[in-house]
Amino acid sequence: MDEPEFFEEGTLVAVLTTQPLDRFLDYKAPAGGCFRGAFVEVPLGPRKVLGVVWGAGKGGFDIAKARSVNRVLDVAPMRDEMRAFLERAAEYTLTPLHAMLRLATRAPGLSDPPSMRKVYRRGEGEPDRQTDARRRVIETLNDYGGLAFTLKELSELAGVTSSVVKGLVKQGVVLEEDTPRDLPFFRLDPEHGGKQLTEDQTIGADALRAGVMSGNYGTTLLRGVTGSGKTEVYLEAVAETLRMGRQALVLLPEIALTAEFLTRVEERFGTKPAEWHSGVTMTERRRIWKMVGQGGAQLVIGARSALFLPYQNLGLIVVDEEHDTSYKQEDGVLYNARDMTVLRASICGARVVLASATPSLESWANAEAGKYEKLELTSRYGEAVLPEMRTIDMRVEDIPRNRWISPSLQKAVEARMERGEQALLFINRRGYAPVTICRACGHQIGCDHCDARMVEHRFLKRLVCHQCGETKPMPEVCPSCQVEDKLAPVGPGVERLAEEAQAVFPDARLAVLSSDLFGSARALKEGINAIAEGGADIIIGTQLVAKGHNFPLLTLVGVIDADLGLQGSDLRAAERTFQLMRQVAGRAGRAEKRGEAMLQTFQPEHPVIRAILVGDEVGFWNAEAGERRQAGVPPYGRMAGIILSSPDVQQVFDLGNALARNDAALREIGAQVFGPAPAPIARVRGRHRVRLLVKADKRAPIQAAIAKWTGQFRLKGDIRLSVDIDPQSF
Ligand code: ADP
Ligand code: ZN
Repeated sequence: MDEPEFFEEGTLVAVLTTQPLDRFLDYKAPAGGCFRGAFVEVPLGPRKVLGVVWGAGKGGFDIAKARSVNRVLDVAPMRDEMRAFLERAAEYTLTPLHAMLRLATRAPGLSDPPSMRKVYRRGEGEPDRQTDARRRVIETLNDYGGLAFTLKELSELAGVTSSVVKGLVKQGVVLEEDTPRDLPFFRLDPEHGGKQLTEDQTIGADALRAGVMSGNYGTTLLRGVTGSGKTEVYLEAVAETLRMGRQALVLLPEIALTAEFLTRVEERFGTKPAEWHSGVTMTERRRIWKMVGQGGAQLVIGARSALFLPYQNLGLIVVDEEHDTSYKQEDGVLYNARDMTVLRASICGARVVLASATPSLESWANAEAGKYEKLELTSRYGEAVLPEMRTIDMRVEDIPRNRWISPSLQKAVEARMERGEQALLFINRRGYAPVTICRACGHQIGCDHCDARMVEHRFLKRLVCHQCGETKPMPEVCPSCQVEDKLAPVGPGVERLAEEAQAVFPDARLAVLSSDLFGSARALKEGINAIAEGGADIIIGTQLVAKGHNFPLLTLVGVIDADLGLQGSDLRAAERTFQLMRQVAGRAGRAEKRGEAMLQTFQPEHPVIRAILVGDEVGFWNAEAGERRQAGVPPYGRMAGIILSSPDVQQVFDLGNALARNDAALREIGAQVFGPAPAPIARVRGRHRVRLLVKADKRAPIQAAIAKWTGQFRLKGDIRLSVDIDPQSF
């Protein structure tokens, strides 16, 4: 490996800071010099800011006037491959490099000196006077061999007050030592708890292992129905990565899944890995960031931001549930973690495993085109088989107004309850009712800041905007006509469905699984465990339940509104519905019992519903691919959204129209521009948003053209422009 370039004291270095500047700043290397990639603190005006030494300084001015780097931080320098990754990612997403650097330095207190703490271990001495409490301390220390504990840990384990321990320190029985607070992680043992794999799984695991051993970049799409053992298989690739002394990263789409996953990793490797997501404490984040950088964390389980940690020797990245839309970051830097994973791995020579029961059309197409290797697990593990799927034709069901559980579904649920099995009623809508309407004037209560309706949440006793999070109490009179007592809920949300289920199944124990009903990831995890152990007869859930939880007693899934996702104008609607319905149905019958899935629908002949029913995945993808190819949209063409926002609606449309008229830079590469039109979310937090869509050939250099095109205009006033490469909706 090349040694990074070293800069002697006083030579000029170019520093990239996390401040919003479009250029590198030149500084003099500090006393003792510094390496390229060093994390440094530099003076900027009256402030001190964080930066990274990107290379040699440009100079071109009086060097004597240059300021010096204040100090080099006590963390591993950024590797060249990480700098290359940030540069390429910035180019791809048309994001300024400093914003990318900020993603890579999200460790609070990074610039603090290493903090120390006191730990306690067995010393040589003997106590002058033996007491019960003292004996317990000594026994505890003996029991754990040479391990060191914090004062709190030791006194809790021994069941004594901390003064007992302190007393023993005075006598030399217990040693008090200073160690860095950032303790390394325990080593994971790749040979610890491997399972006996099935034939299918062995083939898959061998192929993934061979990939890891090659030490080269490569991506594998690992497809397999829910419960087929994809996780078991890719954990073997993780094991191989650990054997090779490289680091592994597993990305999960949902924090709520991590607790269950950590337990599985512990079973497999004997100890817990590092965990990285928004729920992790600040101190822990700092520790992980540093440990990843020193190679002291071998495996990270995390959300998409874990991709920007400073791995020293990354050998494998797994993207579980790779089709999940939450991999797309929709705020700040707009990036898709799945695509960035492939980019990162290709730069550092790592393997990628994209795992899913229902891959995204993008990954499917890449596999078909031979860019990704394909692996498939065809059957569920053990006796479990996929549920039998059928539709309930809502046009012929006899169902009263404001009720959503059809008589057919009701009967099926009752049958499960009699057998002591569980049923899941699925609706992909949080809250009580999606719309609140005034029966006197027809007014619908909307958000004051967005173009969205307020959703009633009875549990919170408030109206909530799902767009911006704004809440307000339910008004007593209609805000439009001032008439009292006429506001009524329209349509069902998960809370309303629960109310109905309570009335229809008065003897059932209900459990409602919706993200906003749980205060924390831990509470949610406990709720899920209780259900898995049989603590409920009927589960009422939103898409939270579709993602990977195991409910062994569950044998029936009733989808309340299978048509819900088909109504949007979004070209991806069919793909989404197909994936979601298949995932939800996959919840049923994971253990020995055959499951059943029932889809309530008003359009049982709809091609998407038909494809879901017969489970014709390949047929569905081929049909969907055909339509996208015809329309020239991703993954067969390239698209980008340009979002303009301002508090002034006229201003955004004026700029949007000016852009649309001056599109020479786009025409040069054969790209077309559509719009401006109101963005999919037309107003957010008081800002009006319009969108232009750029469509181009698959291989067109769209980023450069967009940069040139938008660069013609200076942004005036409070107008903002952001580029969304590969938008989720089009
Ligand atoms: P997927 O990731 O495809 O949904 P999992 O890996 O979670 O599937 O497997 C589903 C369940 O079956 C899990 O509880 C898992 O532990 C179990 N399982 C899968 N393969 C095996 C195996 N070879 N031996 C023992 N248990 C297995
Ligand atoms: Zn709002």
